[in-house]
Amino acid sequence: MKVIVIGAGLGGLGLAHRLIRAGFEVEVHERDSAVEARFQGYRVGLGGHGLAALRGCLEPRLLPLLEAVSGDVAGPGRAVDAQLNLLAETPPRDEGRLFDRHVLRHLLLAGLSGHVRFDRKLDRYEELADGRVRAWFADGSSSTGDVVVGADGMGSTVRRQLVPSVQVYELDVWGAIGRTPLTERFAGLVPGWSTIVNTKQAQLFLGKMPFRRPPHEAAAELAPDVRLPATPSYLRWVMMIPHDHPGDFRSLEGDPEAGLAAVLELMADWHPELRALVRNADKHNSGIGPLRGTDPVRPWPTRAVTLLGDAAHPAPPGGLGANLAFIDGELLCAKLIAVRDGEVGLIAALADYERDMCEYATEALAEAMKTLESFKHLRTTA
Ligand SMILES: Cc1cc2nc3c(=O)[nH]c(=O)nc-3n(C[C@H](O)[C@H](O)[C@H](O)COP(=O)(O)OP(=O)(O)OC[C@H]3O[C@@H](n4cnc5c(N)ncnc54)[C@H](O)[C@@H]3O)c2cc1C
Repeated sequence: MKVIVIGAGLGGLGLAHRLIRAGFEVEVHERDSAVEARFQGYRVGLGGHGLAALRGCLEPRLLPLLEAVSGDVAGPGRAVDAQLNLLAETPPRDEGRLFDRHVLRHLLLAGLSGHVRFDRKLDRYEELADGRVRAWFADGSSSTGDVVVGADGMGSTVRRQLVPSVQVYELDVWGAIGRTPLTERFAGLVPGWSTIVNTKQAQLFLGKMPFRRPPHEAAAELAPDVRLPATPSYLRWVMMIPHDHPGDFRSLEGDPEAGLAAVLELMADWHPELRALVRNADKHNSGIGPLRGTDPVRPWPTRAVTLLGDAAHPAPPGGLGANLAFIDGELLCAKLIAVRDGEVGLIAALADYERDMCEYATEALAEAMKTLESFKHLRTTA
């Protein structure tokens, strides 16, 4: 049975590992020209089932490396005002792990070189009379398989063809994101797992990505065939700005330096250390843009084409998208194994997957939207 996965993001690569180990023929097609082609390096927090699903998709020999390049979630969460006065503290957290998305993507590429093709942007798919599916790429090439899995992220080309009714829309919040090297000076701003700076105009979320070991060094020792980038530990910050803010942020999309300048302008009377944090950000790896979301995705008429991760349930950035992508891969692989073993037909298996996935994703999405609502509430009451 041949599975064609569209998108070599976290979800697509996690699924590919599982399928290959289960003996499927697997091709992953990625539109970017290489893993480094686009900056994707912010931290993601994984915990519970999501973290277990990530660990479960990797070859056991890679697990020590995975642990070595993770960061601990520890200590209390804090809310402070713009002058760093403590407003509130939440109980310590010591569950889950932090990962850098770029490092994790490199790690997930380990052992997949014969399966992943870069520079292969899907244009459309075609359902053939014999039940198989042909994927057509922008360069005019094609590939035919028994199943096509759209793991091609929030703007999914596969979803646009499969479930065109789903609309991704802008939420009424803008986000500016950046990262600053984690020096002793700035570490004090986040003594626990997170610090939120709460003001009337905007909120700034600070979180550390403290690698247990430098990724490239850990790889050289624990899995010398794996190349990981030399990313230093950093402090990730996200500023949430209400849409009704008079600033013209739309013109700043795609211009990181102008985005940083706009953030600093918003912080004009904030504590000098907070301003210094943003001033010292990695200028090429920051950005500003509207947060996007969608209505819950309902099960659709099942075909030999399905969706996984952000392609299936586009969610605003937060603590769940990557978790869900790995859980989807675990569930989908189990269903395809049942097909391979002759226990169930392909379409029935995919229908089961889509029903379960839509159910838990809808719940998770509702939680994410609640968090966003609480942000809006905080902004008006801060
Ligand atoms: C700032 C930020 C912070 C986040 N924090 C967290 C967190 O703490 N915890 C958490 O769980 N989640 C978090 N997320 C969400 C998480 O990163 C995503 O949910 C997750 O990466 C989704 O994985 P995916 O594989 O579905 O999609 P992606 O990682 O987006 O991968 C999709 C891939 O498909 C490729 N592609 C797109 N179109 C095509 C095409 N036509 N043909 C071929 N390839 C294509 C893309 O280039 C990309 O490589 C965060 C997201 C952001 C932006």
